[in-house]
Amino acid sequence: MARVHNFSAGPAALPESVLTEVASELVDYQGLGMSVLEMSHRSAPYRQIIDDAEATLRRLLDIPERYRVLFLQGGATLQFAAIPMNLMHRGRAGYVVSGHFARKAWQEAQRYGDAELVATSEPSGFDRIPDLAPIAERCAAGDLDYLYICQNNTIFGTMFTELPRCGEIPLVADVSSCFLSMPLDVERYGLIYAGAQKNAGPAGVTVVIVRDDLIGDGPALPSCPTYLSYRIQADAGSMYNTPNTFGIYLCGKVFRWVEQQGGLAAMGYLNRTKAELLYGALDRSALFRPCAERSSRSIANVTFRCSQPELEAPFIDGARAHGIEGIKGHRLVGGMRASIYNAVSLEDVQALVDYMEEFETQHR
Ligand SMILES: *Cc1c(COP(=O)(O)O)cnc(C)c1O
Repeated sequence: MARVHNFSAGPAALPESVLTEVASELVDYQGLGMSVLEMSHRSAPYRQIIDDAEATLRRLLDIPERYRVLFLQGGATLQFAAIPMNLMHRGRAGYVVSGHFARKAWQEAQRYGDAELVATSEPSGFDRIPDLAPIAERCAAGDLDYLYICQNNTIFGTMFTELPRCGEIPLVADVSSCFLSMPLDVERYGLIYAGAQKNAGPAGVTVVIVRDDLIGDGPALPSCPTYLSYRIQADAGSMYNTPNTFGIYLCGKVFRWVEQQGGLAAMGYLNRTKAELLYGALDRSALFRPCAERSSRSIANVTFRCSQPELEAPFIDGARAHGIEGIKGHRLVGGMRASIYNAVSLEDVQALVDYMEEFETQHR
């Protein structure tokens, strides 16, 4: 069986060893005579699975005790609503709109309160992260319930390389596409969350890490659905109702795998190496060019175009013959995108670079 070089943006590549292990446990989990898929979420073996997933994640990110870890459903998108519903106590939050998902989060938040656009890079086509200084200035007024950012912009291929200074204002970050890809200082945030299907597991699990004091008295909005109350989910250990049992089990396996690879520092080193290889090839190329401004380049999603746009379709189509999948850009922006998440190896990236060079030689 040949595995492809999978550059899909999400659902995305998972470590092969994790898949093999899951397959070996599928029909009979540890001699229990049943699959994890068939097991009560309240059973002792499942308790162990979810507790181990959380404990491993806490070790990886060095999550302080006062932060709660939730495994929820509804994707990152449902958090666009859950965040204002839970945290907008004074009815006003600041949003940095650096891409498509940040804009969606901002628009959704407007349904629940005053969601103020603090900064945006939309005028330049989201090719960069907005200037941080005006954001810090806006936060200094102290009247925001939180400042919202999307730390890595999956579609546009940009990433915050530095966090905005927001003083006492809790920083809320969508880290879906950069979760576990490098070290992250949890204490700098009030809340971070990630849809698992980019870098941490399968679709259907959203990891939320939130400072306990921010959810102390329950949701800001009384109309918040019970399921979306961080307080209730935290108190129920993410089991207010049936959680995505199999998805959480798989996330736990990925967390363990990341730990075996040497943890987030090792992942960060590997991801930087992969990104340098690919951006280096793009910078050298006369045919391809990267889309993101240099100082905002993502290490997870590398977006690029052809100087001759008519060559993009043959480039994307021709990739398949080289075992390369998932490099078509998002339908909103076109072009190409290579998502080089944790489970994408340096060899996978080298295969893409080799193909790019071969294609360029043929079309010179
Ligand atoms: C994929 C993605 C989303 C949307 O995730 P869903 O799980 O499909 O709701 C939101 N934010 C970012 C940064 C993403 O990459």
